[in-house]
Formats: sequence, structure tokens, C-alpha cells
Amino acid sequence: MSCDHLICAHCSHPVSEGRCPSCRAVRARMHGDGPSIPPVLVLAALLALLFGALLLQRCAA
Ligand SMILES: [Zn+2]
Repeated sequence: MSCDHLICAHCSHPVSEGRCPSCRAVRARMHGDGPSIPPVLVLAALLALLFGALLLQRCAA
């Protein structure tokens, strides 16, 4: 995915030019430079939550 055609709402210039902090933030996010959570980690966190809920339920009963 590219941000070449996006126009910044702050500086009214193409985001790809990175003229203001807002542009640079969007550009970094779209190009995957910023921190992102891999889907596998999200799935693992969900499973851990489910497991924890099951354990809690078992302890409460
Ligand atoms: Zn901008």
C-alpha cells in the first residue's frame, strides 16, 4: 500500500513529501516503519485471555 496519492489535511501537500509531522507520522505508519503487532501475537494474547477466563471460572465454581 502506498500513500503517494494522499493529501495531508494539515499542510495540503502530498503525504509522501513529509512536509509536516502529521505527514511523516502517516507515512511511517503506512510503510510499516512504526511498531506493529503481528497477528500471531494477537491470537496468542486472545488464547491466553480465554485460558485465564476458563481458569477463573473453574476456581470460582
Ligand atoms: Zn502534512
